[in-house]
Amino acid sequence: MIVPDSRRKWLAAAVPALLMLALAPLALKRLGRLPETPPATQAAAPLPESVPASASASSAGELPHINAARAMQYVREVVAFGPRPIGSQAHKKLEAYLVAHLKGVTVEHDDFTASTPDGSFPIHNIIAKFPGAKPGAVVIATHYDTLMRVKGFVGANDGGSGAGLLLELANQLRGAKRNRYSVWLVWLDGEEAVRQWSETDSLYGSRHLAEKWQKDGTISQVKAFLLADMIGDADLNIDREQNSTAWLEDLVYQAASKLGYQSHFFARRLAIEDDHLPFAKAGVPVADLIDFDYGYNNVFWHTPQDTLDKLSPKSLEITGEVLLETVRLLDQK
Ligand SMILES: [Zn+2]
Repeated sequence: MIVPDSRRKWLAAAVPALLMLALAPLALKRLGRLPETPPATQAAAPLPESVPASASASSAGELPHINAARAMQYVREVVAFGPRPIGSQAHKKLEAYLVAHLKGVTVEHDDFTASTPDGSFPIHNIIAKFPGAKPGAVVIATHYDTLMRVKGFVGANDGGSGAGLLLELANQLRGAKRNRYSVWLVWLDGEEAVRQWSETDSLYGSRHLAEKWQKDGTISQVKAFLLADMIGDADLNIDREQNSTAWLEDLVYQAASKLGYQSHFFARRLAIEDDHLPFAKAGVPVADLIDFDYGYNNVFWHTPQDTLDKLSPKSLEITGEVLLETVRLLDQK
């Protein structure tokens, strides 16, 4: 199960307890190598552990709707730019494309230069703000850069799916009067490692934005941070992510159940290093919506096979609607 050319995201406790005992040394692995000391992790437990019984469709409010075909078209257009690693021309074009689709929306930029093992790179986080009447904001984030070191890597799922889906979420939020929390859509940059995934070579954009928001006090406004990463897989199985906040994951499951999408959620547990971590460290409740089983044994991940033909508009629709419903549940809290 070890993916030889992998540099990020370790798996943990994805097998039943008995199997886990038998395979203890194998059950905790950083993809590509075993960790020297296994990270603290929970034993596998029955799922889901605490789904509120009140997940009925009777509560007030319209159910969210995502235009799946339009979301997929955005993903197609994003992928058409080709490989989009930081510092590339295609990346620049994609930045302009994203901003052009946010006309009429308050857009903020978090631009800086990152020092990486391969030198300095410009990093551009893009933040679109949809104001609400209530103080506080829910962030929905994704990353839009793609992996640098794999030739021909176009990141249809890893980078493309989230970038396109958030554009469709912008369509849903644009002009709608929000009585509750503001929603901030964030296209994070520089998620991928330049050389090899490590604490310092990864998450360039999210680390910078979390730090910036801590310095200027913005972080206190953020009620929840929802991350969408690799959510376009036609065979959608979003993992229950163990570095996420338990009650927020419960809320995501409640939203999925309400929409009838629960079979796509939380069949297994994984701990994954992703853009939510810097915000979790800053004390923000976080949930990483990620399907880290992209092809059998995640075989398409970080390979030139991460292409549009593996994706489905329905998966974008499911994730988008669950995200919007989660925001609605947060509004009610
Ligand atoms: Zn990646």
